[in-house]
Amino acid sequence: MTSDTLSPAGGPPEIEIQWRDICARLRGEVGDTAWQSWLKPMTVRGCEGGKVRFAVPTRFMRDWILAHYSDRIAKLWTEKNPAIQGIDLAVQADRPAPAAAVQPRPLKTAPTAASGDGDGRESLSAPLDPRYTFDAFVVGKPNEFAWAAAKRVAEAVKAPPFNPLFLYGGVGLGKTHLMHAIAWHIRTHQPKRNVLYMSAEKFMYRFIRALREQNTVDFKDQFRSVDVLMIDDVQFIAGKDSTQEEFFHTFNALADQGRQVVISADKSPSDLEGMEERLISRLNCGLVADIHATTYELRLGILESKAEQMAVPVPHKVLEFLAHRITANVRELEGALNRVVAQAQLVGREISLEGTQDYLKDLLRANDRRVTIEDIQKRVAAHFNVRLADMFSERRSRSVARPRQIAMYLAKQLTQRSLPEIGRKFGGRDHTTVMHAVRKVDELKSQDQAFAEDVELLRRMLES
Ligand code: ADP
Ligand code: MG
Repeated sequence: MTSDTLSPAGGPPEIEIQWRDICARLRGEVGDTAWQSWLKPMTVRGCEGGKVRFAVPTRFMRDWILAHYSDRIAKLWTEKNPAIQGIDLAVQADRPAPAAAVQPRPLKTAPTAASGDGDGRESLSAPLDPRYTFDAFVVGKPNEFAWAAAKRVAEAVKAPPFNPLFLYGGVGLGKTHLMHAIAWHIRTHQPKRNVLYMSAEKFMYRFIRALREQNTVDFKDQFRSVDVLMIDDVQFIAGKDSTQEEFFHTFNALADQGRQVVISADKSPSDLEGMEERLISRLNCGLVADIHATTYELRLGILESKAEQMAVPVPHKVLEFLAHRITANVRELEGALNRVVAQAQLVGREISLEGTQDYLKDLLRANDRRVTIEDIQKRVAAHFNVRLADMFSERRSRSVARPRQIAMYLAKQLTQRSLPEIGRKFGGRDHTTVMHAVRKVDELKSQDQAFAEDVELLRRMLES
């Protein structure tokens, strides 16, 4: 089960971390399927003479990666770290089961196959992650409301208890997990009901394809025959008018027939930028449940539950340490635990607090470094020699308005806050003001080298 997250971390930590970043970037560029097949199985083995050495499971893979991806990888790497000029690939089937390396999540599609449409049509639903069940979800204060709501929806047999269920919260706090859990539950207990889970991105992609192939009637039919529709990360279609329109109609058609709709997003309906008013009000009609940032207790609980399933014992002190220090989101927390366990297995040593601190140095530093809007306001005000109060004030003279815009811009770049949230922190300004500031600063940066360097300098000071 853990084979996917436990890719042995063989290379030096910096290189490993750079590879993660590059990989994440490439995933966006090449798409999930290509990433799973080719990039994910690559294991960093070291670095020599300006080249990063990788191990890959088969020769075929090596040749394919060299032909299709190596130049791009080298280029991204040089941008990040000029010392790296290229990559080397060695075939090394030393990982226990090459099959597991080629299909990083071997279980992922299996359970869904049995519950497809059954009429030979290509299944529309995205595969569900077998790990994302209600049993595996740890409940605490920050997520209990969302969890209870998800449970109600999953257990309902007749009319939807609320429609839609709208789950929202920051990255890595368990929205996708809860949605899959609902789907698993319904597929297990009410197998006749047609459950469709899909990302909003995929929804849009399908819709656009249908438009292009002039096939929208089929598209509509497919969606409108489902009993439970779940669309993940709906913020993705904000601002995409025609997709939003179609989604709105699909949603209305389903809701009117008493079918359940479940939606997730990174913000509340009203905070979603570029969403149409009537869609927002429709979304607000059901139950809106937010997942708050984790607390120490919840983080510890999650770690305890994950550690139980690990192949090696993890001292409680280490769990407490991680829960204390890695606060951003559950995904990072899990990642840290996985890395510690993988490392310990690799070198064949027991897990210790000292070893953990040492091994996770970079990650811990990155967590400490998270910048707040207040930090940004202070730093920018000092830099331009204006009063901190002018970050919130109504004054519009250029001498204070420009620094304020730069601070808003940096807040957008360096924090996870949404535009409305940033606006509120700057004396209750509207999100459009923030949007304008971001555009303005971008524009000035492209026109004025000195200005661009100034902003860059501020950014670096804030990040260090
Ligand atoms: P989101 O969709 O909100 O970005 P995910 O649902 O993908 O977040 O969660 C990120 C990771 O954290 C997943 O591996 C998920 O299983 C795990 N996770 C999040 N919340 C919990 C929880 N309460 N209990 C157990 N695992 C959790
Ligand atoms: Mg998600």
